[in-house]
Amino acid sequence: MTYKSTRSDQHCATASQAILNGIAPDGGLYTLDHLPTLSTDTLRQLVGASYQDVAKTILPLFLNDFTQEEIDYCVNSAYGVDNFNTDNMVVIQTIANRHYLELFHGKTLAFKDMALSILPYFMKVAAKKNHLKNELVILTATSGDTGKAALEAFKDVDGIHIFVFYPKEGVSPIQEKQMVTQSGNNVHVFGITGNFDDAQSQVKQLFNDNDLNSVLQDAGYQLTSANSINIGRLVPQIVYYVYAYAELVNSGKLTFGQPLNVSVPTGNFGNILAAYYAKALGVPLNTLLCASNENHVLSDFFQTGTYDKNRPFIVTNSPSMDILISSNLERLIYHATQHDAKLTQQLMAQLNETGSYALMDDGILNHFVADYISQDDTLQHIKAIFDETGYVIDTHTAVASALVERYERITNDSTPTLIAATASPYKFPQSVLGALTTVTNQDDFDCIQRLSQLSQTDIPQSVADLMHATIRFSLVIDATDIRSIITNHFKG
Ligand SMILES: *Cc1c(COP(=O)(O)O)cnc(C)c1O
Repeated sequence: MTYKSTRSDQHCATASQAILNGIAPDGGLYTLDHLPTLSTDTLRQLVGASYQDVAKTILPLFLNDFTQEEIDYCVNSAYGVDNFNTDNMVVIQTIANRHYLELFHGKTLAFKDMALSILPYFMKVAAKKNHLKNELVILTATSGDTGKAALEAFKDVDGIHIFVFYPKEGVSPIQEKQMVTQSGNNVHVFGITGNFDDAQSQVKQLFNDNDLNSVLQDAGYQLTSANSINIGRLVPQIVYYVYAYAELVNSGKLTFGQPLNVSVPTGNFGNILAAYYAKALGVPLNTLLCASNENHVLSDFFQTGTYDKNRPFIVTNSPSMDILISSNLERLIYHATQHDAKLTQQLMAQLNETGSYALMDDGILNHFVADYISQDDTLQHIKAIFDETGYVIDTHTAVASALVERYERITNDSTPTLIAATASPYKFPQSVLGALTTVTNQDDFDCIQRLSQLSQTDIPQSVADLMHATIRFSLVIDATDIRSIITNHFKG
């Protein structure tokens, strides 16, 4: 089992090399041609297992050159009460036949913690395994949540430096405050004047910029990625779909073998691709609902077969999904073309040149049902769920949840659904409170207090701490300046 670039057959890597490189030298994404599978017996044995034990079973299937001992070390180091406020890492809230999988119980209150908390340990093991001499420089473009989760995971890790670039006008005030107050002596945070796509394209270019890479090499550094283009980000996300299925069986909410739909609020296509990989493993997942916001380039793609990013970029109330170039879709395209790297490369070149491409599908797209939810419908859905049940969900989760409601209404499909609850409502207090009440123009921290009263949940400590945190980073740059920032920081 080897990882291959989606854009040519020349670049193969072991899992540990793929994690260290982040992206293949030709700009492709490291992907497996032969997806692993799990026997029914093994899946059955996971019913009642702890999250950590599920992780120890699933991760080795994808991380081919890690020993079980190394996997156990990574899991034991990352997945404990120091990093998560619940013993089982996640919480499942059930409302009728909808199961909200709360993936936001890590330090930064978004699902990104599930993978980013373990990524530094993967990198440490991978560096040792490959006798790496250089220090690692992580470049991260963020739509709001990856940045903070990566900063928190990598702060003060020896031999690693991290740079985060976020769209100055494209994240929630709480998300921004989380990032610009980050502690640690190896962290750097910049606002950029463009949007997430601008940051992501610049950063992706730098990974394959030979001049920059040789300057860094001479100084003893090399670049890598903490975005979901890195398989070290993607693989830990498969675990929670397996765990959730086993846990729903364990708690009597599903019978073993019963199908489960999954709905995922989607931006860069990482989280839902992980659900597809869990399905490929043999977990009885049926329809994968790909939920977009008003930047609905993905749902249009699934409906028409044409990917077309030539449209205005909209800053929405689910900012972590404000993306028009969805990186991980490239991996699905590669699978859809029966691993035709040449064709995938051509389609991606076309995307780069014209902003669009069309795919002749062999059927893989039929695993997915996609649609988008407007900002207004998102807010109304938050209100409706709260009025019915008292449960408060964030704007991203609401996009996925509202799509389930629409899908059930249109299709009469009564299969139970797992909804990826990707962020805590406390990360988006203005929008969420705006949905629940008519109160507006309140300070963020007033909104947080009110949200706590309404939802009868405690304000997470990390959010309370933000109120008095000192701002360390305030520089705003153009995305095209990222290169010179890195060069100047590291050159001799
Ligand atoms: C990143 C993010 C998403 C989108 O996930 P992708 O893996 O990029 O599709 C959705 N919701 C929240 C809260 C996020 O942080």
